[in-house]
Amino acid sequence: MIDLRSDTVTAPDTQMRAAMAAAEVGDDVYGEDPTVNALQERVAAMFGHEAALWTPTGSMANQLAVQIHIRPGEEFLADVDAHVLTYELGAAAAFGGATSRTYRDVSEVASMIRPEGYHAVRTAAVFVENTHNRKGGSVLPLDALVDLRALALDAGITVHCDGARIWNAHVATGVALAEYGRQFDTLMVSLSKGLGAPAGSLLVGSRERIERAIPIRKRMGGGMRQVGIYAAAGLHALNNIERLGIDHRRAARLADALGVTSETNIVALSVPDAPDLGRRAQERGVAISVLGPTFARLVTHLDVDDAGIDRAVEVLTSELNVSPRT
Ligand SMILES: *Cc1c(COP(=O)(O)O)cnc(C)c1O
Repeated sequence: MIDLRSDTVTAPDTQMRAAMAAAEVGDDVYGEDPTVNALQERVAAMFGHEAALWTPTGSMANQLAVQIHIRPGEEFLADVDAHVLTYELGAAAAFGGATSRTYRDVSEVASMIRPEGYHAVRTAAVFVENTHNRKGGSVLPLDALVDLRALALDAGITVHCDGARIWNAHVATGVALAEYGRQFDTLMVSLSKGLGAPAGSLLVGSRERIERAIPIRKRMGGGMRQVGIYAAAGLHALNNIERLGIDHRRAARLADALGVTSETNIVALSVPDAPDLGRRAQERGVAISVLGPTFARLVTHLDVDDAGIDRAVEVLTSELNVSPRT
């Protein structure tokens, strides 16, 4: 099966498994796992922040951000198709007591921020997603983020980046991770997407914010013990950042063959009948994601090679009746 459903489907390779087996570990609830501590320090430094906190999932790190930036009853602004609103099962409301309003483009944020008032809910934070999953792996331009940063500072609100795939944005644009880091109060970054770790994300931010996030992680059931095993996989996964360019070239090839474009490793397809395309592709050995009645998604990653892309082009172009370009 050529599995293009997501970049989460990768299996750890031999070297990653060897790094996991050799990991020095301790009890991370006591803050004593040296491999976790090394990973947290390394990733914080990459983004130019003081501290970072390992979480089992990106969803948990996003929800820690909700709970450190927004008090119950306050609101945050997020993209209408944001993961934090679409795919986290209402956690911001269920666990954080946060309300939200959505924007279609970050440029709308300026006119949406509300101060506290007798009737109004105070806007406490803005969330952005970079790269954007449901928008086909699109990259937010740095100047839009710089403008947003200035606006937020002026309004006294915070900015969190859902950077599950910030690595892809960095490789696609050449913008340094620290430059992205400067634009946000906190970031969530994932090791388990394109970088290939079996699990693990981090919340990155100031020491004060990360210290506030630790008991919230524990409350949510995310205080784990000898997770240096996962942190070792994560440290190894950081070696896979620069090779994301290969995934981007493969996604561009797929996109081009299907008459669309892709900025990073995701190809979003608008088709007449996505479930039907999904079924027929599956029968021919190509798995894709069906995200809506007319919305399908293909994602390139470590475990799909050029031959896999060739086969996917062959199957999808014939199912969609587009003539493959050479
Ligand atoms: C996958 C993803 C998450 C959540 O990560 P999990 O580890 O699956 O919980 C958050 N945001 C975006 C944009 C994602 O793609």
